Amino acid sequence: MFQCDFRNGAWETPSIVPYGTMNLSPAASVLHYGQAVFEGMKAFKDDNGSVWLFRPEQNAARLAASAERLAIPPFPENVFLEGLKKLVALDSDWVKPGTGNSLYIRPFVFASAAGVQASAAKEYRFMIICAPVSSYYGGEVRVKIADHYSRAPQGGTGYAKAAGNYGGQFYPTQLANKEGYQQIIWTDAATHQYIEEAGTMNLFFRIGDTLITAPTSDSILDGVTRKSILDLAKHMGIKTEVRPIEVAELLAAQKSRALREIFGSGTAVVVQPIIGFGYKGENFETPLAQDSYALKLKEALMNIQYNKAADPFGWRVKVCD
Ligand SMILES: *Cc1c(COP(=O)(O)O)cnc(C)c1O
Repeated sequence: MFQCDFRNGAWETPSIVPYGTMNLSPAASVLHYGQAVFEGMKAFKDDNGSVWLFRPEQNAARLAASAERLAIPPFPENVFLEGLKKLVALDSDWVKPGTGNSLYIRPFVFASAAGVQASAAKEYRFMIICAPVSSYYGGEVRVKIADHYSRAPQGGTGYAKAAGNYGGQFYPTQLANKEGYQQIIWTDAATHQYIEEAGTMNLFFRIGDTLITAPTSDSILDGVTRKSILDLAKHMGIKTEVRPIEVAELLAAQKSRALREIFGSGTAVVVQPIIGFGYKGENFETPLAQDSYALKLKEALMNIQYNKAADPFGWRVKVCD
């Protein structure tokens, strides 16, 4: 694991050490006030055994934006990217070959200073840990459109990958699980009329032949997969629209059968088709369309990630051979 401490107003010299537990004061600020942010990314192995990252500079920039929102001092992006490459190269045997297999990478920063004063801490720790993940079938996903609970209010921390954004979702998600939904589609906190995103996925809707996703905002996380899918879709000649989507529009499109596909996008799943949704106790089916955009876009994106196709966007970054 990669680690680096912030003390006396500066980031110290980072190191890479064997994975293991660490000492932390019970008064560490993160345990009391949740001052913590994280990232999620993957490394891929191609058929020649070379290891690649996917748009890592996007994650470095987003971690910096998340840190700023949580009053955490920024970790130098070049040190992050260099440390990340060294760590993944050292662990390259853990990047298993085969499409779908990858090394999941979790960079994170938290307030390590002891002290129960409710203000920004003076000491932090930046770490990167990794774990091999295999290709998995996410199963059939049905979602519930939120009409009561909220994920992120306007002016809040929704655009940041802040630890507390996730802890607050577990309870409403458990309630939705009991009703037979795997995830929640969050709506805007003020009116619950506009679609925002899912727990750790941005959302796409195919209405007719147009692919629609909500604009990012201070309550929607700016997913790297989302922006890559938008670029890929345009490249493949699929019409895209980035605009607010009302729940009412979705229901009307479902009724007129114009709604042909719903899918989520994120590093973990790449693309996750959503085969049904519930709203205020009513259930609707959205079976996978023939000629599915979700599957086409997933394949195109993974072909770039695994070095099986040309990379016209310059997204791949080589770690080692
Ligand atoms: C991480 C995350 C996503 C997806 O972002 P990617 O960069 O595509 O992995 C979407 N929504 C939320 C809330 C997330 O935390």
